[in-house]
Amino acid sequence: MTTILHADMDAFYASVEQRDDPSLRGQPVIVGGLGKRGVVCAASYEARRFGVRSAMPIAKAHRLCPKGVFLPPRMSQYARISADVREIFYRFTPLVEPLSLDEAYLDCSGSLRLFAGARSIAEAIRAAIRNELSLPVSVGAGSGKLVAKIACARAKPDGLLLVDEHDTDAFLRPLPIAEIWGVGPSTEKRLHALGIATIGQLADFDTNRLERALGSWATVLQGLARGEDLRTVEADRGRKSYGEENTFPEDAVDADLIDAMLLAHAETVARRLRHDARKARTITLKWRASGAGVEWRLSTRSQTMAEASDDGVVIARVAAQLWRAEAEHPPIRLLGVQVTNLDGDRPVQLGLFRSEEEVRNEALNKALDQIVTRFGTGAVRRGGRPQG
Ligand SMILES: [Mg+2]
Repeated sequence: MTTILHADMDAFYASVEQRDDPSLRGQPVIVGGLGKRGVVCAASYEARRFGVRSAMPIAKAHRLCPKGVFLPPRMSQYARISADVREIFYRFTPLVEPLSLDEAYLDCSGSLRLFAGARSIAEAIRAAIRNELSLPVSVGAGSGKLVAKIACARAKPDGLLLVDEHDTDAFLRPLPIAEIWGVGPSTEKRLHALGIATIGQLADFDTNRLERALGSWATVLQGLARGEDLRTVEADRGRKSYGEENTFPEDAVDADLIDAMLLAHAETVARRLRHDARKARTITLKWRASGAGVEWRLSTRSQTMAEASDDGVVIARVAAQLWRAEAEHPPIRLLGVQVTNLDGDRPVQLGLFRSEEEVRNEALNKALDQIVTRFGTGAVRRGGRPQG
């Protein structure tokens, strides 16, 4: 059985601020761009009670919550903690797909037996993040990405919701169709026009009629509604590239901020490379410039090194050189570091995640080795296949 977890830190940036400064605990904390064009990046649950939400213009947040504590984001601090969170995920499975600094899918199908089931994995992850990083995280679990993600949203804040495979239909059917991944306002409108408001109604709808209305997208959508979510967790292992990027809440121009973010991204990328025992030769810097009246454009610059590296400082140095080599340094909204041209394509063997048979064999081999060490090679002979 496939078991996917969706883990999402609660009000991540705001929680980090409340953790690092105890006087902010219990306060409505709003992290975001403080300038005129700034937006809210994160709002603590105390601030959400006033209606403050992420992506809202900061001016509106000020009107809704005039007594709020407004803070500029400390992106490099969040990136560092994000890397620590990922290290915790990797204790439970190598199949981790990060979605952003504070969110990831984990495919735990292969480690269910080792850790005594999905619930104990989810509880152990929550406890580790709580005890080691003093931060709240919510976890949803289910047989596919869609169920796991919706379950996680329902578990918030600081909760856990596990949807058993047999309960998937009962869980999904009453939900509004907008909960389905990929259903935006325009698809929602078209579905409403067909009289479809819930996931259950979508699941039961005549497929041919749905195809006439939505095209080939219809079957995917109906599959999701029926709990047939075939999307797999795209882990780093086997990847051709590793990357990390962030969006700034307002135009970033400060050279120190850009250097700090490049280093944070490079170190995260380097950790993931080392985790998978790989090294990269090509470093790509990417950024999106912003400017009044100018369409935001994505730019990339790359450099290939003589020797492959898994060192964050080396990767950051190359990325910073690429940035300095630019004739102009416009204000930017997005900054990223990506590495490609990888060595070490052979996937690493992680003892914990091999097949049960391999694990059994290793235990057996170890036991045999110990006996042999004590009593000499004549002492044992391996019998039939180990059972169990
Ligand atoms: Mg979050």
